[in-house]
Amino acid sequence: MFKILKKSFDTGLVTIGYPDAAPEIPESFRGAPRFDFAHWRDARPAAAACPTAAISVRDAGDTREVRVDYGLCIFCGECSEADRGGSVEITGEFDLAMRDRRELAITAEYDLHADGTQRQLTSLRQADRPIDWDTRFLERSVERAIHLTLGRSLAIREVDAGSCNGCEVEITALNNPIYDIERLGIHFVASPRHADMLLVTGPVTRNMELALLKTYRAVPEPKVVVAVGACGISGGIFGRNYATAGSVDQVVPVDVYIPGCPPRPHALLQGILLAVGRMARK
Ligand code: SF4
Repeated sequence: MFKILKKSFDTGLVTIGYPDAAPEIPESFRGAPRFDFAHWRDARPAAAACPTAAISVRDAGDTREVRVDYGLCIFCGECSEADRGGSVEITGEFDLAMRDRRELAITAEYDLHADGTQRQLTSLRQADRPIDWDTRFLERSVERAIHLTLGRSLAIREVDAGSCNGCEVEITALNNPIYDIERLGIHFVASPRHADMLLVTGPVTRNMELALLKTYRAVPEPKVVVAVGACGISGGIFGRNYATAGSVDQVVPVDVYIPGCPPRPHALLQGILLAVGRMARK
């Protein structure tokens, strides 16, 4: 008994301060790819290497449309290795959660050289709006301010609708002493009738489709739904087929999308807090 107490005192405080303090991300963590759209000279190798078609290229005459969908991305890094010009970089970025599925996709348009390489970026859009990266980061910091308004505890019911359990491993980590989600007044509950939020993982398998729908209906209003990971957002590598209905929003309305494969605990926290802001408005 005394040995355990001594060990606890010797270990000291391990709980992170996120979201109030900046997250400490290990150097080895592989986050989202970042694209230097303005200087990208050829998107074709990266698109060909992408296993989930998160990067797509469509040529029409001497113009090209390149679409990057973070909702499909599994953060594998293949695009960075395939790109010869150094315009694709794997970063430690994780806080990509968005309220609008369309905001996870970025579309760039280019004029082309005769050899098919990109001559000039002509437009860059996110959810059909012009963007620049700085604006995107600014929007996120505003969202963090909204999170501070959380004034009561939040109850989450997690639903595994058919995931590989990679997301569950990260969700479970939220309860360990390092992430300690209860310090924020957020806890997981067993019954949807006690929940404010559904945290849904996996492509929705046909076997889980009805169960997810019933669980959603059992959550009292106001409620929010968070789709976790590439599979929850888009069906991921499973897509939509005889065995799966695909993304969570094919079955129930989704309020926030958290990209990743799987999203690390920081990313889950960011998405959950983003959803809390949405709940406050509901
Ligand atoms: S990191 Fe994402 S965009 Fe790049 S190849 Fe992998 S899945 Fe495709």
